[in-house]
Amino acid sequence: MRELAAENAREGGGAHSEPPEAAEACRPEINNHTAGLGRRGDLNAAVPNPRGSFHACSKISLEEWDRRYESHATNNGCRLSYTTSLTRHADDGDRRLRHLQFDPSDASLRLWNLLLSEEERLHAARRAGHTLVGVMKDLGTVPIIAYACDRVTAFYPDGAWWTPCIMEASADSLRAADAAGIDESFCPVRAMLGAFITGEHFPRPDCLICSVGATCDDVTALAERIADLGHDVFWWEIPHRRRPEAGEPVIGLPDGTVAPAGQVAFVQSELARVRQVIEGLTGRPITDQALVASIERANLVRGLIAELRHLCFTAPACPLPALELLIAEMLALHFCSDPTGAVEILTHLLDEVRRRVRDGVAVLPHDNVPVFWVNPVADLQVMNLLEDCGGRICGTEYLISHALNLIPTDLLPMEALARTALADPMVGSAHDRAAMIARQIEILGSRAVIISRIPGASHCATEGLIIAEHIRRRSNVPVVEIEVPPISDGMRQTLRSRIEAAVEIARHGGSA
Ligand code: SF4
Repeated sequence: MRELAAENAREGGGAHSEPPEAAEACRPEINNHTAGLGRRGDLNAAVPNPRGSFHACSKISLEEWDRRYESHATNNGCRLSYTTSLTRHADDGDRRLRHLQFDPSDASLRLWNLLLSEEERLHAARRAGHTLVGVMKDLGTVPIIAYACDRVTAFYPDGAWWTPCIMEASADSLRAADAAGIDESFCPVRAMLGAFITGEHFPRPDCLICSVGATCDDVTALAERIADLGHDVFWWEIPHRRRPEAGEPVIGLPDGTVAPAGQVAFVQSELARVRQVIEGLTGRPITDQALVASIERANLVRGLIAELRHLCFTAPACPLPALELLIAEMLALHFCSDPTGAVEILTHLLDEVRRRVRDGVAVLPHDNVPVFWVNPVADLQVMNLLEDCGGRICGTEYLISHALNLIPTDLLPMEALARTALADPMVGSAHDRAAMIARQIEILGSRAVIISRIPGASHCATEGLIIAEHIRRRSNVPVVEIEVPPISDGMRQTLRSRIEAAVEIARHGGSA
């Protein structure tokens, strides 16, 4: 690895590098780097390849990763963290991996391993005597309070959301949820209840902290069932973010919108209760100084993700597949239970993406159409499908945009966190979320919008329609709604047709 790093550094590639085999996946392809992207917004962030050409960097299968891993392991004594074989996760039950196409960089391998090893990490934290805090629903705020404490590990049991996909519905947790009467009429987050029933996916947390109020019915209903199982659930309220009335004092939120000052104060008081609960669990006070340090680390993660998103959305040649970018975004929520590892791996990934942008290395054909994607996909394979259909992610709203905003550092930490929590797109109206998405589409110059409905999700029945109509009123980009189940194989052709239609209409400048 040292030799590789040195060679890469000589070429200006930074300290981290791909295995030699991964480099072989990148082959020269001469293209016009502005073709098909003429209407996009900020293209200046990407430094064009001085040679004026792109190099194609092919995605690879799990089998290919395994062959490369074996060769890499044989050739390199020095190993970065999280560079083990991905196949072991597939062998352990994460079957969907066998059907995905992956980015071929070491940084992406580490990213996947960080994601897929969380269960082991939580068990290790328990063995090491850490206090385990299970956080539900708020997506990004409470873990920052928890990680202000030593020897506390916070995680989202909601992360079981992807279990039906990753394990291809083979997990006992789904059968347990079914047996408890929580069937497919619920959003895939129902796997969380099953995981609590079977106790197989993560250690029992010392405490669960769940936001209620302006949250989805699915998680609220499931959290009540989890409390009935004998788990200690602490509830805190996040109110519906309403528009301020005339003359009412308002406070700015990190996303540039405003909320009534009274609501910010209320959320701050609720988060103060959360802080007390965590202090009670550990027996130690959480100082403002520790909170400020935790916010700074969260902002470091958010800053890395912001630059990644910016480069991926605006570079003339797409430098990272949609799937890896989605996982990177998700690290903002709770750092996948390893804040230090998350910073390291995001830094590595950003180095890789910067290098690709500088050298004009593209993971997709240059004329793939820039698409804005709304909502996370229940089946990760659909992110591959979008790219196979000629699309390229150039904007996302995966229901976590509040977790991507930088947290204000010029305020007392609890007020800063309250403002951040209130910027959650899910606690405001669907019209507010639609307006926020429409603004981003304009800024990024997206040429098509795909709204991916989540089967069973209580908010998806009408919200998609509101968002689609709002965008159609403001721009003439095609907007397509699809529904993606956790295993979409049986619908692949339908999904392909819908996505291809959006891409082709966009390519020819029409609307739908
Ligand atoms: S996808 Fe929607 S319904 Fe499901 S847990 Fe997330 S917010 Fe709730």
